[in-house]
Amino acid sequence: DKVLIRRKSSGKIRDKSKCNVENVVRPFIVKDEDYKKLMGVMLEQFENGLGKDTNSTAKVKMFPTYVRDVPDGSEEGDILALDLGGTNFRVLLISLNGQEVKMESKIYVIPQQIMLGSGTQLFDHIAECIYKFMKDHKLMDKKLPLGFTFSFPCKQIGLDKAILAQWTKGFKCEGVEGEDVVRLLHEAIQRRGDIDVECLAVINDTVGALMSCAHEDRNCAIGLILGTGTNACYIEKTENVGLWDGDNDEPHQVMINTEWGALGDDGCLDFIKTEYDRQVDKHSINPGRQVYEKMISGMYMGEIVRLVLEKLRKNNLIFQGQESEELKSRGRFYTKYVSEIESDEEDNFTNTKQIFKELGFEKVSDEDCRIAQHVCSLVSTRAAYLASAGIAVLLNKMGRPEVTVGVDGSLYRFHPHFHDLMVEKITHLVNPGIKFKLMLSNDGSGKGAAIVTAVANRMRGQKDE
Ligand code: BGC
Ligand code: MG
Repeated sequence: DKVLIRRKSSGKIRDKSKCNVENVVRPFIVKDEDYKKLMGVMLEQFENGLGKDTNSTAKVKMFPTYVRDVPDGSEEGDILALDLGGTNFRVLLISLNGQEVKMESKIYVIPQQIMLGSGTQLFDHIAECIYKFMKDHKLMDKKLPLGFTFSFPCKQIGLDKAILAQWTKGFKCEGVEGEDVVRLLHEAIQRRGDIDVECLAVINDTVGALMSCAHEDRNCAIGLILGTGTNACYIEKTENVGLWDGDNDEPHQVMINTEWGALGDDGCLDFIKTEYDRQVDKHSINPGRQVYEKMISGMYMGEIVRLVLEKLRKNNLIFQGQESEELKSRGRFYTKYVSEIESDEEDNFTNTKQIFKELGFEKVSDEDCRIAQHVCSLVSTRAAYLASAGIAVLLNKMGRPEVTVGVDGSLYRFHPHFHDLMVEKITHLVNPGIKFKLMLSNDGSGKGAAIVTAVANRMRGQKDE
């Protein structure tokens, strides 16, 4: 018997290289039954997060926000917004007037030494950017309400009070975890003493995506980010929120910031993790944390692909014995390459060849390109499917007949197939009878913060009267 098997496999010698490529990438192909198992695990974890007695030990925190309802279109005024937590830090000026939204914005760079420095430095830098923006836009003599989109896990104790639970993605500033980020911002503004702004609301970017899409589509009840990081929020009935300590009045609901990126931090995703996921985690600034996020989002996807390509190269399955210092360097293979490579047509591979030339390979064959495209496609498809499982859990849990999902983030926006892959997979995983739509959110972080802040500002005005 043994001999026979050996002979059989050695008979496939011509196919050997393909076979080995397939062996290397196979772990990225997750079976449907495993996606279903994952959904069960997720639901359990979401419920632990929502439960009064289980929240303290839950990894997925399901933070109640102080945002209760979608906009009704009556929001108005000029609002300053900050967007911190993605690839770029931005300051925005937004004029709301019913359905009409006008926006000006500017990107400011946050140097890495500040992202990994002290909290004081970070907030001083942010305050300086606000100052510059106001000066450039001739806003110095105005007192503007400010909305802060702060895209990290926070326990909110008010619309304008958010305690950072822990940093994620590329940030790790000392002295901020456990603190109210609005207080830190106000202190930095006071230290300068030359601008007059007050932060009335702090929201997560998922809430921004939900609010901005709901501005156009009242069925929007989920906000999803697929960018540097990943996360989702959704509208939950207050009766299902064990930690809810607000009123039980209309609208009997509240937005929950799931912080689903932390799924798997207790090991519950180990059954689908690959050796590449483990390596990415090990070399990250937050090992052991944000397991699901690291399998999905843009901060990590390129690195996963790089590790696979390096393994194939070392085993002589790609690039015919050539080496590249660049491909050996951690973080050097950007996630945008994945989108570019997957956008190539089979017959020319223009982007793919260009990318690998840039990375220092002299001869790149069509076969190399085909293999690279295959790797990218498996890694991004797994990401899209994993996120789909999460969305399907939320759709099933909410049980509404028709839901629009507001989506933002560079990965979703620029990847050529992410949207289609998700529609296909969610359709497959969601309970029969539930209709859904994935809607691209345009500038949700800015617009969403402005909408929430406008409402807070109006309510404050009403109180003063
Ligand atoms: C953060 C979330 C955020 C997501 C997308 C995650 O790392 O924890 O708060 O919504 O990234 O930006
Ligand atoms: Mg963003």
